[in-house]
Amino acid sequence: MFWIVCFSSVPSNSRVLMLLGQLERMNGEAMLKDVETARQVTAKILHLIQTQGKRKHAHTHTHIKTNILHTQISLLAVVLGRRVGVFVSKGGTGVLFQLLINASKEFPPSEELMLQLHSLLAKVGPKDRKFGVKARLTGALNVTINLMKQNLLNNKLLLPCLQVLRVYSSNLVNAVSLGKNGVVELMFKIVAPYTVDFVNEQHECETNARRAVDGGFVTVLLALYLDWHRNDTRHRHMLIRKGLLVSLRNITNIKLGRKAFIEADGMRILYNTSTECLPVRTLDLLINTSSLIMRKCFPKNRLPVPTIKSAFHFQLPNVPAAGPVAQLYNQPPGVDDVVDESDDNEEADADTENDTENDDDDKDLLNDDIETDLNKLHPKRNPGRPLEELRVYERFFLELSEDFQVAKMSILTNRNSSCIGIKDCNSTKGKHTLPSPSAPTPTPPAPLTPLELDTIHLTKDQDKKEKSHIPSPDTGTKLHIQSPLLLGGIASRRVGGGGSNFGSDCGSEGTEDEGGEGAVLEVPDTALLLPLHDPDLYVEMVKGTRSVPEYAEVAYPDYFGHVAPTFKEPLLERVYGVQRSKIYQDIERLIHPNDILDKAVYDLDIPSCPVIEDNGESLKFNSQFESGNLRKAVQVRKYEYDLVLNSDVNSNHYHQWFYFEVSGMRVGTVYRFNIINCEKSNSQFNYGMQVLMYSVQEAISGRPRWVRTGADICYYKNHFARSSIAAGGQKGKSYYSMTFSTTFSHKDDVCYFAYHYPYTYSTLKMHLAKLEALRTPQIYLRQDNLCETLGGNGCPLLTITAMPESNSNDHICQFRNRPLIFLSARVHPGETNASWVMKGTLEFLMGTSPLAVSLREGFIFKIVPMLNPDGVINGNHRCSLSGEDLNRQWLNPNPELHPTIYHTKSLLQYLVHMQRTPLVFCDYHGHSRKKNVFMYGCSVKETVWQSNITASSSDLQEDLGYRTLPKILSQIAPAFSMGSCSFVVERSKESTARVVVWREIGVQRSYTMESTLCGCDQGKYKGLQIGTRELEEMGAQFCVSLLRLKRLTGLRNHQHLLDLENDIMTHTKVVRLVKWRILQSHLHTQLMHEGTHML
Ligand SMILES: [Zn+2]
Repeated sequence: MFWIVCFSSVPSNSRVLMLLGQLERMNGEAMLKDVETARQVTAKILHLIQTQGKRKHAHTHTHIKTNILHTQISLLAVVLGRRVGVFVSKGGTGVLFQLLINASKEFPPSEELMLQLHSLLAKVGPKDRKFGVKARLTGALNVTINLMKQNLLNNKLLLPCLQVLRVYSSNLVNAVSLGKNGVVELMFKIVAPYTVDFVNEQHECETNARRAVDGGFVTVLLALYLDWHRNDTRHRHMLIRKGLLVSLRNITNIKLGRKAFIEADGMRILYNTSTECLPVRTLDLLINTSSLIMRKCFPKNRLPVPTIKSAFHFQLPNVPAAGPVAQLYNQPPGVDDVVDESDDNEEADADTENDTENDDDDKDLLNDDIETDLNKLHPKRNPGRPLEELRVYERFFLELSEDFQVAKMSILTNRNSSCIGIKDCNSTKGKHTLPSPSAPTPTPPAPLTPLELDTIHLTKDQDKKEKSHIPSPDTGTKLHIQSPLLLGGIASRRVGGGGSNFGSDCGSEGTEDEGGEGAVLEVPDTALLLPLHDPDLYVEMVKGTRSVPEYAEVAYPDYFGHVAPTFKEPLLERVYGVQRSKIYQDIERLIHPNDILDKAVYDLDIPSCPVIEDNGESLKFNSQFESGNLRKAVQVRKYEYDLVLNSDVNSNHYHQWFYFEVSGMRVGTVYRFNIINCEKSNSQFNYGMQVLMYSVQEAISGRPRWVRTGADICYYKNHFARSSIAAGGQKGKSYYSMTFSTTFSHKDDVCYFAYHYPYTYSTLKMHLAKLEALRTPQIYLRQDNLCETLGGNGCPLLTITAMPESNSNDHICQFRNRPLIFLSARVHPGETNASWVMKGTLEFLMGTSPLAVSLREGFIFKIVPMLNPDGVINGNHRCSLSGEDLNRQWLNPNPELHPTIYHTKSLLQYLVHMQRTPLVFCDYHGHSRKKNVFMYGCSVKETVWQSNITASSSDLQEDLGYRTLPKILSQIAPAFSMGSCSFVVERSKESTARVVVWREIGVQRSYTMESTLCGCDQGKYKGLQIGTRELEEMGAQFCVSLLRLKRLTGLRNHQHLLDLENDIMTHTKVVRLVKWRILQSHLHTQLMHEGTHML
């Protein structure tokens, strides 16, 4: 290494000094490109030293040594990281220690040299794994300690010594030896900051932090920091400043420390110093650490709501004593709102500013969670209830059991009745609705006052035939409309920002209808673009939808429909420093309390009138419509609002989904919105995802659509305390804020914001009704009502296949024997993307393409498109009205509390009895933390391999077929990523549809299909956010993949795969893994090959 100079001989001629000067100048410029020059110059010095050097009196050369060392330190600093490793590997550490020993023999030792050497050692130490050992063996350990003992007041020298000491003590033997020498006590005498830091290294953090607080060190530290901040104007002592902050950070890990920090005015000191540091990018380290400390010490607030229990309560037919609802409502009042000041030990989201996304958290979870019980890993077909009980489900399988002619008749009857089959569709009224005789009859839900639906404030005015400014060529159908769009006889409230009408503001030369009441709204004609949408039909559907809050309003986006934009919506690039500036704005609430308005403008806890009217200085919020979820809006500053989401009905948490309306905005003003009670520890909002916005003004101008919007989006832990009751028993937790800024482009607009593209239950009913219209005589489509939900809504069940070609026995036989495909979606109401994928599937299946025809001829599709209608309707994110996650109830669903799951499972059990187990089961979901679309499946082998449990080869007999479908999808669906798929059976998932259908029903290809809420990082849509078009395409591609699967299984490739697999079984696990990869690639090649001429 060029920097290692032999100091035993030092040339004194001017050439060396000149070269040194050259080096120093270069270092001053700190240019990396000059490294090569530096190398040359150093080489020259080395050469000079070696060739001309004559031994002189050591003390006369100390000065030069120091100079050279200093130069080297600077050089090392320039190329640190890249070169220190090489320096170490070339024995640099040893040379430095030797220098240290030599220097210590002089009396008195040169302070400057000691300082430089220790600084250099502090840099080299962490890179050298044997640093501690070398230090002990050379005696450097004692040199450093003695030096410190002799220089207790010399802070300049102590700092690098302490740093070196810290590295020494990472070696256990050294640490013990240091401890015996009373170093810890010594440390406390010297400087509190480093002491704390140093001691932390020895894992005595809490005790010593407490000691530090008792000693009044917080005030001292703050004063020191402020002093350094003021005097270190050229930022040459970042390390010291950082060190002081790190000490503060450690001390404030304990409650006492935080208290002392607040009392010492720490918030203001760190806020002010950081603000002054903001313009200097190199001080980011200080700013970020300061920000971390301030966030930690920010006094915890409680959410501005009277209770975290949902604003809505639903009376269950029975409340199991051990269930979540009983627990929730048996708590003494107020207990869920305790703000506890416990220490949150998780330093997790220190700074997500430059954080790169990683999915590792998922994997970590997975490892703990892998099912290791071989008994449970083996699918044990369990038909559950006896056939006699299940017979009642026969009516949902007319195509299987009955004489076809009869079935056909019943279909025709169905078709002729004009209703859509959700509500009592045939003459035998009510018969299609379970409860079955064997199941306990669900008691009807608590009586809801029926809405008065006779009038709706929408009247078609056919007379007005003026030019429409909607680009679509159709007749300008005009509606007199009020905002909000109301059902029933509820008085109108407002239009936009204060009573002016839509028509006049968006440039319509037509009606000049002044004065709010009868404002004219043009409904965009989207019939051509949205074949399954019809605003009038939507309103009809809403009338039959029963919500717990008895909503009487309709959100415009659901009414107008959504036409996916044609432009691309790239993932949002994160601007550097966004999170920090948002956090600083939050901290300012404490620093400048007088700037805070704290004015509630919407409050669901005032049921009579949640919208708080004012003088027009605030935005107006509303979410009292299907799938709406906003509990409270608080105006914090003039253009900033804190928003609180409502918990799922009958629960006290699960906040993620949101859907609300905003009006009364100013054009061009930047508004900041903060959703302050988010629960997950990270979010795709930190990785490019934007919120969705729908503008009514845009819609009536012919652009009815949700668009990704919002700038400065970030997601971080905030200062609102989370009750341990709502955080799974963990204390000291906080909520997270999702913040975004936006401007509005239209005056008097009504805008909507949502977590993802809304898809209401009424939308589903409308789509199903419109699907009927797509039926041709060749299509067999039946819509049944599987059961009633707790909330009194129907759960649609669809059967789609092709009519038999004729009434001949052969054809009827082929018809009945088609393999079954069982699909479901939307068990989790917040995962609206699942519904859009399902829409794609349904539309494709009802289509006229040859592929659709083949699919219908090849399979019978059984589809439950919405497993949790009540959750969807009431704006829940995760649960049903029972306050439970329905996708954790499949092991033992309760017919009263989980009717949709109970009856769906019964359908599958019935099929087992009939020996008609479906070929594929797939439950559509949405994923909030990952990109792309992918699948979870179940494989014994892959689970065993992940878990390291020992299993006999017979345990591992498994058909590889479970991989085929996802593999095909990864080839044909651009959004689909095989790499994100997993086939491991987790313990925590043992009561999900996927695992139960695999284990009990015996469906080998039982999947959860997860679609991203955010976007893609691979394939054709890489870098883009996902939209409804891509989601619907995914649903269609899923169907296409089934067709390929059929051809593959038909070609008996399966047997081939099985043979390969058996071959593998005889080898050891390691070999198996290797072979497994080979097999995978084999399978891949094979599929690629098949794929080219498959369709
Ligand atoms: Zn889900």
